[in-house]
Amino acid sequence: SITDRISDSAVADAIAQELTRQQRQIELIASENIVSRDVLRAQGSVFTNKYAEGYPGRRYYGGCEHADTVEEIARERLKQLFNAAHVNVQPHSGAQANQAVFLALLSPGDKIMGLSLAHGGHLTHGSPVTMSGKWFDVVSYEVEQDSHLIDMEKVRDKALAERPKLIVAGASAYPREIDFAAFRAIADEVGAYLMVDMAHYAGLIAAGLYPDPLPHAHVVTSTTHKTLRGPRGGVILTNDEALAKKFNSAVFPGNQGGPLMHVIAAKAVAFGEALCPEFKDYAGRVIANARALSETLKAGGLGIVSGGTDCHMVLVDLRPMGVTGKAAEIALERAGLTCNKNAIPFDPEKPFVTSGIRLGSSAGTTRGFGEDEFRRIGALVLKVVTALSKAPEGDPEVEAEVRAEVEALCDAFPVYG
Ligand code: PLP
Repeated sequence: SITDRISDSAVADAIAQELTRQQRQIELIASENIVSRDVLRAQGSVFTNKYAEGYPGRRYYGGCEHADTVEEIARERLKQLFNAAHVNVQPHSGAQANQAVFLALLSPGDKIMGLSLAHGGHLTHGSPVTMSGKWFDVVSYEVEQDSHLIDMEKVRDKALAERPKLIVAGASAYPREIDFAAFRAIADEVGAYLMVDMAHYAGLIAAGLYPDPLPHAHVVTSTTHKTLRGPRGGVILTNDEALAKKFNSAVFPGNQGGPLMHVIAAKAVAFGEALCPEFKDYAGRVIANARALSETLKAGGLGIVSGGTDCHMVLVDLRPMGVTGKAAEIALERAGLTCNKNAIPFDPEKPFVTSGIRLGSSAGTTRGFGEDEFRRIGALVLKVVTALSKAPEGDPEVEAEVRAEVEALCDAFPVYG
């Protein structure tokens, strides 16, 4: 069972406490979710013992028969899920999927263009602290100050002026639809590759509820653990056979050693779940719930970056209440609501402080919350932030009241109960 104890008591205690934390807190981190017991079981399986360098049918180790089977299942399901001709399920993480694409398509010093980290892009899209920023010549596009949207004319102007070899579309903190067709038209005009990092939106794309990048991008990367609700990991998808070969070589041996076969088994299970009709219902509820949350926060006086959301993510501007992202994250956690501070576009605060928080509806939706619960959660967030705006240390009484309501919601919608 989920509470089976392992004999190492120090680790067992940490796991038991983490389970309790997940059961007793409301998870609002937009990049997290709650996987099924089957995903947990697959990831905890004997495949963790297996070395399987190479690909199905072409391994560098013996004893890979069943590893081949499970990797083939994962590949076929992923292809079906996104209507992709070629996929690689071996990247250990989203960052490593992106690195493998860079390794396959670029040389050090080449120019890449992605959404600026401060405007919602991911670290691996060119931030100076990552390999992408250290090894490549990075130019970034931004969102507009008034609308918080990506202006495709400005992206085109920048691409024409800078002539990047690769353009990255996709984001970690951009709540609106991205125009992948327009990105491809620009990439074609300047002779660039288009890589779409769909990590955040993958589950919604699989359900047909967010624009599909596969028909437009040369290559699509993703994590498997966000809206897609699988184990932590990465994948690469493409419809171009020649590029697919390059990506396979870039993942192994280029960028990784042996694949994590237990994680691939768990990916296979998660992809199977995402192919079921219920997954589409879940994805629809994720978006409806994020909208209910966004509307509640807006009606309560907080700013919503871009005015709303087209996905699972709500980026909240706390400045109308004079509260920082850092203070809000800490106070909300005391009250049982877990989220992360996040820069808003043109944020006047430092990255470790920020003026915003990023909220997501995926984990709460998986647990069973609907729009009523998300409106309730919005009211609880407002209560904590309002108290914080009056007392910088927060109000222990208010936070205890919210904590009690959070626990009641958690009791009504148990996780791994
Ligand atoms: N790409 C995007 C858009 C992300 O949001 C993230 C994770 O937050 C990643 C890549 C990196 O994924 P991982 O943490 O698995 O390396």
